[in-house]
Amino acid sequence: MTEVLDHWIAGRPDAGAAGDAGRTGPVYDPALGQVSKHVRFGSAADVDRAVGVAREAFASWGEASVAKRQQVMFAFRELLNARKGELAAILTSEHGKVLSDAAGEVARGLEVVEFACAMPQLAKGAFSQNVSTDVDVYSVKEPLGVVGIISPFNFPAMVPMWFFPIAIATGNTVVLKPSEKDPSVANWMAALLQEAGLPDGVFNVVHGDKEAVDALLVHPDVASISFVGSTPIARYVYETATAKGKRVQALGGAKNHMLVLPDADLDLVADSAVNAGFGSAGERCMAVSVVVAVEPIADELIDKIKDRMGKLVIGDGRRSCDMGPLITREHRDKVAGYLDVAEADGASLVVDGRGVEVDGAADGFWLGPTLIDKVATTSAVYTDEIFGPVLSVVRVASYAEGVELINAGPYGNGTAIFTNDGGAARRFQREAEVGMIGINVPIPVPVAYHSFGGWKASLFGNAKAYGPHGVEFFTREKAVTSRWLDPSHGGLNLGFPQHT
Ligand code: NAD
Repeated sequence: MTEVLDHWIAGRPDAGAAGDAGRTGPVYDPALGQVSKHVRFGSAADVDRAVGVAREAFASWGEASVAKRQQVMFAFRELLNARKGELAAILTSEHGKVLSDAAGEVARGLEVVEFACAMPQLAKGAFSQNVSTDVDVYSVKEPLGVVGIISPFNFPAMVPMWFFPIAIATGNTVVLKPSEKDPSVANWMAALLQEAGLPDGVFNVVHGDKEAVDALLVHPDVASISFVGSTPIARYVYETATAKGKRVQALGGAKNHMLVLPDADLDLVADSAVNAGFGSAGERCMAVSVVVAVEPIADELIDKIKDRMGKLVIGDGRRSCDMGPLITREHRDKVAGYLDVAEADGASLVVDGRGVEVDGAADGFWLGPTLIDKVATTSAVYTDEIFGPVLSVVRVASYAEGVELINAGPYGNGTAIFTNDGGAARRFQREAEVGMIGINVPIPVPVAYHSFGGWKASLFGNAKAYGPHGVEFFTREKAVTSRWLDPSHGGLNLGFPQHT
């Protein structure tokens, strides 16, 4: 019998309403290709209980002083910083990404915790004195209530941390539905929040699949939904939850291009393409999946990328490898299937990741880094978000053709230009219809005090994650117009109020 991971409700592990008779799903160690534990799949009754607990907790947490909330955030920051290695190790054992990459993920989440420590300053209201004679106007930011967070498998620690530190620091209470593929870090973070002094019930975790998600989306006591995942589900989440009157931010999938101009430093470009294409086995929403090479540099660039790919060590993330396995066997097979599509569509497989030599168990979910040249823009290899270690090269004749290609895609998450021409970079920043732009930077994930989010099919709603957008999303503003009456004022006047 393997371990079964419980939900986390009201400050303790919770087996859910059905207990051992309820549904569960397997959790794999992807480097071994074996089931390491099972996770409970919450029902609508479990979501209802967690929301009820969070609603009860909101009665006091929503009223807690700003100082109290800030103390908890600072304590959480200290604990997380001291024990981040532990979190990274759990993450690697369920996601597969190499330990150094897992540590990087935790560090980027920690950034948002640090941002949230400044909430007293960030969520301050405004005051205007004497807007009319003896009348003051001020605005305050109040929490929403119970907020729902639904996260994807590829950043099981960082993506929840894009949201919950800001939600909690602004006085909301949380129900998180993590990915069922790598769920353990959510419970670990819940226990750490408790250790940091967070009252029970403020942060709850309900594990599961569509059933738990659907229950959150329509629950009348859930005020908002923060979702990150693939585009079809992001659209569904956005449409379902907004129809129920909720505030929704829903970040979707991506297909990120890197435009390389002929004057670029091709060694820097090759390093960047390999790092951003194959880091985390390409399972990043900000991965570079298409190199758009402005001729005549494509052949030289491909040689440099290929050289570097030959040096990558693929294997178990707990050893000193560069790239780990994919998340599941099914996903690995799906990604590998695109290599057949590439061949059928007439593209040229420069490096074929099938049959890769691996420093790890034979049953791990492996696929080696793959480089495909001359990819037709009509091929599914180009149009689909593959979400694996597959880098495509598309050759274009000019900067203008490259930008046109980028803007024709349905997604608009991230993109990058590599050039030494400041004018071209500036023009690209203006002309690319994409939410996050890198200039000689391949994965332009903004720091915690600038918000993260794409355009078009990469983001539904108008709120990006964290930064100023995060503070706005998790608060609602109240404007107060106040007058302390002098008894000489008064009398009837049905006209619209004007300032005197
Ligand atoms: P996913 O859409 O399959 O799952 C995301 C969440 O939705 C999970 O919690 C899952 O349990 C739930 N879910 C899945 N199917 C559902 C359904 N039919 N109904 C209701 N809920 C459902 O995504 P994933 O495979 O876990 O993550 C990878 C995807 O996430 C990629 O498309 C990637 O680009 C995207 N992503 C985007 C960003 C971003 O910031 N834009 C960041 C990370 C990941």
